[in-house]
Amino acid sequence: MNQEYPKSSIILNGQTAVVTGGSSGIGAGIARALGEAGANVVVNYSSSREGAEEVVAGIRDQGGQAIAVQADVSSESDVEAMFRKTVETYGTVDILISNAGVQQDAAFTEMTLDEWNMVININLTGSFLCARAATREFLRRGMVPERSSALGKIIFVSSVHEIIPWSGRVNYASSKGGLMLFMKSIAQELGAEGIRVNSIAPGAIKTPINRETWDDPESKAELLKLIPRHRIGDPVDIAKAALWLASDESDYVHGTSLVVDGGMILYPGFISGG
Ligand code: NAP
Repeated sequence: MNQEYPKSSIILNGQTAVVTGGSSGIGAGIARALGEAGANVVVNYSSSREGAEEVVAGIRDQGGQAIAVQADVSSESDVEAMFRKTVETYGTVDILISNAGVQQDAAFTEMTLDEWNMVININLTGSFLCARAATREFLRRGMVPERSSALGKIIFVSSVHEIIPWSGRVNYASSKGGLMLFMKSIAQELGAEGIRVNSIAPGAIKTPINRETWDDPESKAELLKLIPRHRIGDPVDIAKAALWLASDESDYVHGTSLVVDGGMILYPGFISGG
């Protein structure tokens, strides 16, 4: 997907970021923005090697540092190996963007256990495994005050569906609802260590995950009715929020879901009455 990464005043020189699902969509946008801000970026993918290599090449073309690392975030051994590779290459990890996620839609009564498990394992368990590995590395490394006022930063890419129920996608909504309390619980547990933990909850963002909606004029028109800002978001909208949350500019922001949705959670059905 073609997108401009933000030219921001935020500088993350010398910091290392792991971006899960960095080969596509929102993760690719965040990876590019972090690279532009001077971070070393580990662009994770599960199967889209080409997509990850393209993001890496884009960062290097801008004079940045990046590598692509294959890992299935739902596999403990893959995640451990990815963090080992990151530490071998760049010395440590400062920022985790836990973004990898999937949808596997089905009516509730038709949903198979495999469809349920796949979404929970990648979206929720994957976030647990990556956040645990990042936290262990933050604690091992210790504070580096000249790099950041935090020991480490963890940012989950959740969804407005951590708040809005979603019929036909109970696996997805459950994974994101679970992610919200997982994020808040570890924020409570890790705050005193200097580890900042937050989520971004995107609304509808134009990526391959929802192509059938924005590609079809009728579905797109229906979707726009749900967005008071009246446009579908772009990965850059999320990248800008991620950059801010990853920086010391947001030093006192902790345990929060930053909703970036063009107003989708404002009960848009009430615009014309109620
Ligand atoms: P996308 O373009 O389909 O990207 C999904 C990414 O996740 C890909 O890079 C994919 O890598 C990776 N991934 C999938 N399974 C993985 C696994 N087992 N291990 C490691 N990586 C894996 O979708 P997106 O819209 O950018 O979604 C990114 C995140 O944003 C998801 O968590 C999604 O729930 C969330 N979100 C999206 C929207 C939206 O409107 N787009 C709204 C709210 C929240 P491979 O291609 O290599 O498998």
